[in-house]
Amino acid sequence: METTEFWVAGQPVTSDRTFDVHHPYDGALVATVAVAGPEHVEAAVTAAVAVAPEAAALPAHARAGALDHLSRRLAERAEEVARLITAENGKPIRWARAEVGRAVSTFRWAAEEARRYSGDLQRLDTDPAATGRLGLIRRFPRGPVLGIAPFNFPLNLVAHKLAPAIAVGAPVLVKPAPATPLSALMLGELLAETDLPAGMWSVLPVPNDRMPALVADPRLPVVSFTGSVPVGWAIRAAVPRKHVTLELGGNAAAVVCADWTDLDRAAARIATFAMYQAGQSCIKVQRVYAETPVYERLATKIVAAVEALGAGDPADEATEVGPLINEDAARRVESWVAEAVAAGARVLCGGTRTGSSHAPTVLVDVPADAKVVREEIFGPVLVLSPVDSVDEAFAAVNDSAFGLQAGVFTHRLDVAFRAHRELVVGGVVIGDVPSYRADQMPYGGTKDSGVGREGLRSAMDDYTEPRVLVLTDL
Ligand code: NAD
Repeated sequence: METTEFWVAGQPVTSDRTFDVHHPYDGALVATVAVAGPEHVEAAVTAAVAVAPEAAALPAHARAGALDHLSRRLAERAEEVARLITAENGKPIRWARAEVGRAVSTFRWAAEEARRYSGDLQRLDTDPAATGRLGLIRRFPRGPVLGIAPFNFPLNLVAHKLAPAIAVGAPVLVKPAPATPLSALMLGELLAETDLPAGMWSVLPVPNDRMPALVADPRLPVVSFTGSVPVGWAIRAAVPRKHVTLELGGNAAAVVCADWTDLDRAAARIATFAMYQAGQSCIKVQRVYAETPVYERLATKIVAAVEALGAGDPADEATEVGPLINEDAARRVESWVAEAVAAGARVLCGGTRTGSSHAPTVLVDVPADAKVVREEIFGPVLVLSPVDSVDEAFAAVNDSAFGLQAGVFTHRLDVAFRAHRELVVGGVVIGDVPSYRADQMPYGGTKDSGVGREGLRSAMDDYTEPRVLVLTDL
């Protein structure tokens, strides 16, 4: 098997040190990848700094053209990339295809944003002393961006680092997750086809133990991190003067109100989005709070819907739920389920593990202090709880260290507005599960779930700084 190269300043590079990528389902060797050493990182950073003025001066048509190219070429190679994602991440092929589709749209949307991102004109003559003054506000790149991505969406979350950087003309260094570098490295092939200045982008498989030094590099003023809570907050603490955005873990809840009429739809959506990506999504449904008039019927329907999900080989077209990223992750989920059961929880379905696969599991009667309620499960486990009122449901949703998104199944406008006001999260979805993200919306969390927002426009604002030009009409 050939060693997969990485990308330094737009050029393919290899090195003597390598690491292996294994298929999460059966452990098969998928690829051997070259490790980026300190000399490669230095070359990438130096090139990024050198090219920054040229990148910032790229006209909108050049930035948008490169992004359109990435979108188009990714669409042409969609099936190949989807199979790569399934092989490195273990996600079922149907979900891998969905991820590629998302990345195609992320690049296309970024191209559109690059065309319309301009500036602001402000009247300053609101005060007699400023008569004749106008403010022209434009945003300029802060400098090279360091984008760090997790394993669970190995393509689209890398796209979410690259696309806004290209859209604003900022050089970008992307660090994919060690388990899943292949689709990010493949994106390098498409980037190399563009006319972007070579130094503007690098894709670097840097070992975790060398990441603190890269994060601390003063030549990289922006760090955009998506990943786990402890790593994210440690980065922010290490570089308090940098512009750091953190997209971290979640423990998302769905509330099903007594007024909700279509319990079949609520059950189907909850079952799918509790178990998709084997639960390895920051906005997967982990907790459901249903009002007592609908609780029993809903629980029965959810269990039936979960049992109907095909679990198994992710390459199989029928599979909805594949393995976790590795056996350690599946063992952790198993131990948290066991802890809940020991504390009195009942397993309505699932509850078993085979290798790296954990069966889709629904739990009830779970004590509120169990890990499956309080922590981020990041596995195919769902906790159902009855509540007596919307008040109780909202209090339970907010009784969490996390605050990414929440879903509320209600037809009532007053409850929808209340949810928007009272749920302490980055986004509330009415009439559906919390597991929804569109590239045009600000996306991110509060509390332990992070700081700042992604979504193309928000990330473009993060990667740039406003600068005002005061014009005086004498
Ligand atoms: P992780 O924190 O282990 O790794 C994320 C990235 O950080 C990887 O590329 C890793 O190599 C790198 N890294 C590790 N140590 C580092 C260090 N000391 N300094 C800098 N970088 C370092 O996370 P993971 O297991 O890959 O991903 C799962 C987590 O990501 C979950 O908590 C999930 O909720 C979260 N996530 C959040 C969002 C969001 O948008 N909020 C989206 C997807 C995933």
